[in-house]
Amino acid sequence: MLQEQEAHAAEMEQTFIAIKPDGVQRGLISEIISRFERKGYKLVAIKILVPSKDFAQKHYHDLKERPFFDGLCDFLSSGPVIAMVWEGEGVIKYGRKLIGATDPQKSEPGTIRGDLAVVVERNIIHGSDGPETAKDEIKLWFKPEELVSYTNNAEKWIYGVN
Ligand code: GDP
Ligand code: MG
Repeated sequence: MLQEQEAHAAEMEQTFIAIKPDGVQRGLISEIISRFERKGYKLVAIKILVPSKDFAQKHYHDLKERPFFDGLCDFLSSGPVIAMVWEGEGVIKYGRKLIGATDPQKSEPGTIRGDLAVVVERNIIHGSDGPETAKDEIKLWFKPEELVSYTNNAEKWIYGVN
């Protein structure tokens, strides 16, 4: 049992998820949060803020050569964003599955973008695309003390260890 517990603990990871201004304005905050929550992931940080354009450019620095970069950063800084950190086994990769493909025209039904968005410029949610970006994005958006460490009572039922 201890080995199982250690194995699960070793797989624990954290990812950065943001509900973009379109998701907030469309009243989709609780819908999006509930998909991560019902899956069994743990919310360890959350806040609402309007990012500056400079901050949006930092967040999307990888895309600075793309033609849509400026419009994307204007949009991210155009209104309130819900910034979150979710924790769980495999949450980085599986979080992206819950979110669906970047272009909602190609996202599968059942995914957040597939069910709730129509065009790529307004695809309502961001999720880190790998372990390195997850680390960098969590560090960009949150101070270490804003991440809460706690045991969720459901964990033993989600992971099957005591
Ligand atoms: P993501 O990780 O699935 O969000 O996708 P990317 O990291 O490739 O792109 C970041 C964001 O830029 C996407 O979520 C879209 O909002 C936007 N984006 C990506 N590709 C395009 C595009 O071809 N045109 C426009 N207008 N926006 C795009
Ligand atoms: Mg991305």
